[in-house]
Amino acid sequence: MQTSTRNELLLKRSRCAVWHPCTQMKQHETLPLVPIARAKGCWLYDFDGNRYLDAISSWWVNLFGHSDPRINAALAAQLEALEHVMLAGFTHEPVVLLSERLSQLTGDALGHCFYGSDGASATEIALKMSFHYWRNTGRPDKTRFVSLAGSYHGETLGALSVTDVALFKDTYAPLLWESAQVASPDWRAAEAGESPRDFAVRCAHALERHLEHHHGDTAALIVEPLVQGATGMAMYDAEYLRRARALCDRYGVHLIVDEIMTGCGRTGTFFAYEQAGIVPDFLCLSKGITGGYLPLSVVLTRDAVYEAFYDDALTRGFLHSHSYTGNALACRAALATLDIFEHERAIEANRAKAAALSAAARDIAQHPKIRHFRNTGMIWAFEVDTAEPGFARRFFEQALRRELLLRPIGNTVYFMPPYVISDEEIALLTQRTLEIVAHEPK
Ligand SMILES: *Cc1c(COP(=O)(O)O)cnc(C)c1O
Repeated sequence: MQTSTRNELLLKRSRCAVWHPCTQMKQHETLPLVPIARAKGCWLYDFDGNRYLDAISSWWVNLFGHSDPRINAALAAQLEALEHVMLAGFTHEPVVLLSERLSQLTGDALGHCFYGSDGASATEIALKMSFHYWRNTGRPDKTRFVSLAGSYHGETLGALSVTDVALFKDTYAPLLWESAQVASPDWRAAEAGESPRDFAVRCAHALERHLEHHHGDTAALIVEPLVQGATGMAMYDAEYLRRARALCDRYGVHLIVDEIMTGCGRTGTFFAYEQAGIVPDFLCLSKGITGGYLPLSVVLTRDAVYEAFYDDALTRGFLHSHSYTGNALACRAALATLDIFEHERAIEANRAKAAALSAAARDIAQHPKIRHFRNTGMIWAFEVDTAEPGFARRFFEQALRRELLLRPIGNTVYFMPPYVISDEEIALLTQRTLEIVAHEPK
């Protein structure tokens, strides 16, 4: 890796002026920050032309590569017309078009869209809306939420309250309200001989027991459908979602699906919940919705929920807001992203791409140091058996040396590449990952 003064200066100034997210800054005394000057397709470049394959889509947000000419053009055109206007009392074409198209993608089951700026605020919106719906319909006692063990729904205080990742949660526990967690259908926890589906059924029984006792004060169940990302790409059978839907119906509890990571084709269908043949009451989207260009989030819900807020009384309305709600540029980036899905038949194309990557990863899957190699749509994950602590950081540094951006969660390595990854890039990713795995001390 070469470094010029321009790269070095940027790193130094970044450490002095920027407080980086999800980071113990002191570690950057020895762990290098990576300067990025520009990006194209699956590649990130520094000022000297060193490059990194963005195999995790820049924290799961990018879909069709960096600097896509179609999204760039749509944004340039929107800039000339309207960059932003407040959405309270005003409206604009991109937000209307986007809301209509997102609704259509749910088969018109979720007829209204409420906008936020990031994933965590979408979670907050869904939780508040669910609670407020019950309050408006004469059930103010429904104030509690239930989520899955290992779930991740964001890190603002409300979202963190339904999150179950100790590393992010424990420090702030005194600030959070209590929520319940039920067993995760993550098939790695199945017993020997038990299929992922059987395990999902067993976990659904645990949810049933919980709701049986607590439905009276429970507003909603919130889940990451099919793949629980931040806990380490835990994957589970769609049967769990079918049963969860039926139980929520039986017990009068909302089903919130957090598709912030799984949405926009990541799991092989546009929304992960489609694979269970169900419809949620609330759907949270963010991350990929703008193709990875701009912060935007949206909560879709049923018209029946919307109508419970429609009233002469101001406070029966949903008074939540963010300054950048429904930002016109972000909505335009999302519309351009949806256009690419349509024009390129991206969901179908991803099936062939996923098969190619799975085939190229066969030697990784069969490596003696690898456990639980798994795949859902355009997500792959596996655990690495290793004798030495500090795996995630060591692997990250080894990957950078081989032009790969990979950021393991604990001992879990995952691939979540942009959908435009080519056969050559797939070969490079899988071969170099295998090299790093082979060098790990056993
Ligand atoms: C990333 C993520 C969030 C939080 O989104 P932010 O934009 O980081 O606030 C919430 N839920 C899931 C499932 C996520 O993957």
